[in-house]
Amino acid sequence: MRRKLVVGNWKMYGRLASNRVLLEGILTGVRELHGADYAVCVPYPYLAQAQSLLQGSNVAWGAQNVNQHEEGAFTGAVAPGMLTDFGCSYVIIGHSERRGLFHESNEIVDAKFIATLKAGMKPVFCVGETLAERESGITEQVVATQLKSVLSYAGVQALSNAVIAYEPVWAIGTGRTATPDQAQAVHAYIRGCVAQHDSQIAQSLCILYGGSVKANNAAELFAMPDIDGGLIGGASLVADDFLAICRAGVRT
Ligand code: PEP
Repeated sequence: MRRKLVVGNWKMYGRLASNRVLLEGILTGVRELHGADYAVCVPYPYLAQAQSLLQGSNVAWGAQNVNQHEEGAFTGAVAPGMLTDFGCSYVIIGHSERRGLFHESNEIVDAKFIATLKAGMKPVFCVGETLAERESGITEQVVATQLKSVLSYAGVQALSNAVIAYEPVWAIGTGRTATPDQAQAVHAYIRGCVAQHDSQIAQSLCILYGGSVKANNAAELFAMPDIDGGLIGGASLVADDFLAICRAGVRT
């Protein structure tokens, strides 16, 4: 039986004062929830704040990106060991905003995936198709290519310490959510692809859905058999909204 997981992606939002209000609000509500896992992925400068407010609680924290190198002359980059210094458990890898806006290829994303695992953190590995790709009927092909790339680079065993997030690009930050059936179909497809390599790893693999998950649609998405929780952008910035989604994770 897989546990549900709800991960907030704050993107490039937040300030010290508002973060404190948000994290304290989340902590108050999440304290009484059991049976699921929760995390927030915050901007780098706020990792120390997340660590100091969340340690000892049932909310883990992590980052939204990492450099694939252990150290070196990479101005502006952040190494995996720097994230573990601040207690990070998760790193979002291959988010479509990084693939698109920052031109991260499958090769770069795969290297970041391995570097995250090597440092002892869990990659939240994002896959998903654009609207044009969905409309051309190649959703499965796109997702399979992204998956195959990481599988051939890291091996299926690596997925036993990772999370996959299916995030259709057309649903991210648009208010347009995949229907539970649309999302379930891709989640089942992903699990099937992994099962071709290892059926046990596929069965225990946590596959999140991300893309305009809100308080009013989380429960029906999370009720689908292959949807194990959510990667939440906009709605993770408001404590009550994030908590409502966390509660949906517990109910199903
Ligand atoms: C995301 O940033 O991963 C995301 C899913 O954003 P939103 O929930 O705002 O669509």
